Amino acid sequence: MTGTFVGMPAFPSAARTALADTQLRANLAHATGTIRAKRANVVGEVEDWEELRVAGAAVKDNTLLHLDEHLLRLEESLTAQGATVHWARDAAEASALVGDIAASHGVDEVVKVKSMATQEIGLNEALAARGIAAWETDLAELIVQLGDDLPSHILVPAIHRNRAEIREVFRREMGKVGRAAPDDLTDVPAELAGAARLHLREKFLRAKMAVSGANFAVAETGTLVVVESEGNGRMCLTLPDVLVSVVGIEKVVPTWADLDVFLQLLPRSSTGERMNPYTSTWSGVTPGDGPQEVHVVLLDNGRTRALADEVGRQALRCIRCSACLNVCPVYERTGGHAYGSVYPGPIGAILNPLLKGVGVDEQTDSLPYASSLCGACYEVCPVRIDIPSVLVDLRAQVVDAHRGQRPPKPEAVAMRAAAWTFGRSGRLGAAERASGVFARVSDRLSRDGRTLPGGRRALGRLPWPGSLWSSARDLPMPPTESFRAWWKRTAGGRP
Ligand code: SF4
Repeated sequence: MTGTFVGMPAFPSAARTALADTQLRANLAHATGTIRAKRANVVGEVEDWEELRVAGAAVKDNTLLHLDEHLLRLEESLTAQGATVHWARDAAEASALVGDIAASHGVDEVVKVKSMATQEIGLNEALAARGIAAWETDLAELIVQLGDDLPSHILVPAIHRNRAEIREVFRREMGKVGRAAPDDLTDVPAELAGAARLHLREKFLRAKMAVSGANFAVAETGTLVVVESEGNGRMCLTLPDVLVSVVGIEKVVPTWADLDVFLQLLPRSSTGERMNPYTSTWSGVTPGDGPQEVHVVLLDNGRTRALADEVGRQALRCIRCSACLNVCPVYERTGGHAYGSVYPGPIGAILNPLLKGVGVDEQTDSLPYASSLCGACYEVCPVRIDIPSVLVDLRAQVVDAHRGQRPPKPEAVAMRAAAWTFGRSGRLGAAERASGVFARVSDRLSRDGRTLPGGRRALGRLPWPGSLWSSARDLPMPPTESFRAWWKRTAGGRP
């Protein structure tokens, strides 16, 4: 998996399947509606919310402008504090690095903090191929993993599941990979969370190695930051001896002070909280405290490609809050699986083509069209990513990528014919003369009883090939004499 689920159909056909699932639509409408209301509530409390959004976008844009310098500074700061920094060009390199570190310690299992970057590179599958089990410890990720399912939301990967379904997954699957769920487990949220807590606790205490991502990486201090709500991340980041963090290169921020803006924007936009319940920061190795071996894998995997796209590079500002998913009318109806990627919704519709490139596969090329362009995503985005503009630009890129490959559509044929006609004055004159003849014939026919109510004449009432198109529209009658013919006949209108 490299950001797109292997074998997924293009969005229109996947969406059609999803729309037929009434349970899925009910689950999604309930969940997104609840998160939307929470977000609106806490964002409404902040008087300078717009100023914060502008500041967040500015910090990210300035960082991206000098990304190379900030990354080198980050590497220097991390190394000075005992961490080992690795650079990975793509998913395969990053997964191999993590697998090699695990193999060098002889571990056959790792515990994981919820991380979009590791999902993007398909780390769990790559580790499994080397005989290493990767246990997800975030509650929603655990539900997805136990159910052998795919994530469908950035923040709430199991948003498509309701409580009854989760109970069934826990009862059926937990015992196969560790401590089983209680026989009398109900679908009360506290009981479900309790079963997950007991199941995970033995894995936390046993694991020798953890894998995380990072929400932010501070260049000046070499500090990685993870924010979360459950405390599972804190367990992974502190208990095992070895910690490997896979961090997208766009996660870097220059200074500790820059974090201030994002730690206000992110919790309100994502979980609808005023602050994250757990904010963990770590910088290299501290003897006798926490992991004694820290690795950081700085991941490109298409980010430099996105950076080169003048319109699309703003997508690298994304802090993965998922607010755009929760307001999107398309996402709310289809859910995340239809996007065929770990990055669904509006941000997925632009990020996947930007990371992979357009014209690569049909599924990715279909994503920029998975939007009504209503603009709700732009309005809620805490870092002001103008998703509709990027979508329109990507659509143009998709069209360009396939130009000449497919039989042209009637619209394209008409446009080409128009371009050919307008290309030479003689051709244009001939077309004008022909349309004049056509207009006179039409005029005669309409005077024979084919006049529209109100006396308007329209080709739509004429038996010509355009009648289907024009049955719902009035097509203006071409003039019987073109302007150029009139100019020539009257020598410029002189009496
Ligand atoms: S695009 Fe904006 S709203 Fe959507 S996940 Fe990223 S930061 Fe959040």
